[in-house]
Amino acid sequence: MNTDLAPPIAALAERLLAGERAALARAITLIESSRADHQADAQALLRRLLPHTGQAERIGITGVPGVGKSSFIEALGTMLTGQGHQVAVLAVDPSSSRSGGSILGDKTRMARLAADPRAFVRPSPSSGALGGVARATRESGLLCEAAGYDIILVETVGVGQSETAVADMVDLFLVLMLPGAGDELQGIKKGLVELADLIAVNKADGEQMLAAEQARRHYRNALRIIAPEAAPWRPDVLTVSALTGQGLAELWATVLRFREAMEAAGQRQAKRQAQQVRWMDSLLQDRLLGRLARHREAAAELAACRREVAAGQETPLRAVERVLGAFQGG
Ligand code: GDP
Repeated sequence: MNTDLAPPIAALAERLLAGERAALARAITLIESSRADHQADAQALLRRLLPHTGQAERIGITGVPGVGKSSFIEALGTMLTGQGHQVAVLAVDPSSSRSGGSILGDKTRMARLAADPRAFVRPSPSSGALGGVARATRESGLLCEAAGYDIILVETVGVGQSETAVADMVDLFLVLMLPGAGDELQGIKKGLVELADLIAVNKADGEQMLAAEQARRHYRNALRIIAPEAAPWRPDVLTVSALTGQGLAELWATVLRFREAMEAAGQRQAKRQAQQVRWMDSLLQDRLLGRLARHREAAAELAACRREVAAGQETPLRAVERVLGAFQGG
């Protein structure tokens, strides 16, 4: 069997490894495509590039619309490229296909970073379902690493499941919060704060300075209750201003302390390995469910069982057995 890559893919890999932006952009387009031949090429490309990945700091960033995510990423990203880092910005926004514009779609949102030769800004893929969007973003992150980017920032909107998906593809998950009372406890209730390795209260400038400090104290107290004593890292709360740059250097120093603490505890690799396995499991689950949906008898049995389970005429466990029976029988 010929295991060599198709010549165009091999050439693409070489150009990408040399850090060519156009090659990286094209490779990501391949990753995002749902065409079977593109998918095959994309996976061949990824396998080839995997040995060149893993060196980057992967950071997820979330927060409600208006909290200042794009301003913050622009400010932090520019600070980091100024220090010689190469920064890639990706996004997970499964709603982007519906709203017609993704969270990074509007180029003017991060104009400075988008024009920075040491940065690469890519809008969220807009394939619709969260699973597909998250897969494409995760794999795009690997491509960016192979292309030499040593910091990967993954932005997501502050609504539900996309945050869990992003938290599961990064080393550190950062939650941006607004100063002022009211929404603090809400964040804790929603479980958002439980995902956070770091919280930054943004807009700590001007008249909002005091309110930001108050919010910081509030979250610190809340986290003290949530975080287990023995964990290698206890989430910290900082105040920052994307507008003035206040707190950004301290925030980055905290990111590096997080990395050290995780490495010292053997947790950095362990976390990544567990993420890889969960990712594989979820791909397998998607594939199996996809096959089931395309299997005529099993799909019909599934539809019937759903109705019967809803009507209380069948137990869920027996329904599952019936569906699997139909699947295996044909
Ligand atoms: P996103 O929706 O979370 O991406 O938020 P944006 O970055 O678009 O910011 C929303 C609004 O907040 C904009 O008007 C920004 O200028 C403003 N903003 C963002 N960061 C700061 C900050 O640190 N201080 C102040 N005062 N305003 C900010």
